Amino acid sequence: MRRPIIAGNWKMNKTVSEAVDFVRQLKVLVADVRDIDIVVAPTFTALRAISREIEGSNIELAGQDVFWESRGAYTGEISPSMLKDVGCRYVIIGHSERRQYFGETNELVQKKIKASLAMGLHPIVCVGEALEEREAGKTFDVVKIQVIQCLEGFSREEMEKITIAYEPIWAIGTGKTATPQQAEEVHAFIREQMGYITNRQISEGVRIQYGGSVNPDNISDLMVHPNIDGALVGGASLKADSFSSVVKFKRM
Ligand code: PEP
Repeated sequence: MRRPIIAGNWKMNKTVSEAVDFVRQLKVLVADVRDIDIVVAPTFTALRAISREIEGSNIELAGQDVFWESRGAYTGEISPSMLKDVGCRYVIIGHSERRQYFGETNELVQKKIKASLAMGLHPIVCVGEALEEREAGKTFDVVKIQVIQCLEGFSREEMEKITIAYEPIWAIGTGKTATPQQAEEVHAFIREQMGYITNRQISEGVRIQYGGSVNPDNISDLMVHPNIDGALVGGASLKADSFSSVVKFKRM
């Protein structure tokens, strides 16, 4: 039985005080939630303050990105040990915006996963196809290559710490959600591929989140499907009431 995980990716939004205000409201709104992992991913500058705010609550912290070296002359970068030090349990790796604007490749994503796991962080690894790829019928080819190149070679213990986020790029921030059936079809495919690179038992335990314009109105229809284990939420995670409604989705 996989425990659902709902994560809010704030991207480059919120000052420290806005972030603190938000999380104070969120804590109250989700205080009674026991059966879901709730994660927020603020900007690096707000991590420390949010870490203090969520202490003792049911909310956990994620970095939005990480570098693969542990220290040194890498201006602007943040290491896995720094994320750990500030109280992160999770880290988002390979988000499509990182791939698109900062040239992140599957090879770099794999290095970041490796370094994060070595520090005891739980990576949330993003994969997903672009619109042209879907329209050209290449969704499964693209996702398969991403899964293999990012995730092959990890041990059972490492795989157990990894969450995959399937985020079709055409659905991110566009208001266009994949239909629950489209999402389920790719999630089932990802699980199958994970089975080939590990084994069936391990792949059955890996959580696969859907991401792409998730909101309080569509989360329940997505979560009904057997291979959809949660959501990575951008826009709708920026307001405490909408994010808490996603977290407290109605089970059907
Ligand atoms: C995301 O940033 O991962 C995302 C899915 O964004 P949105 O929910 O806004 O589409």
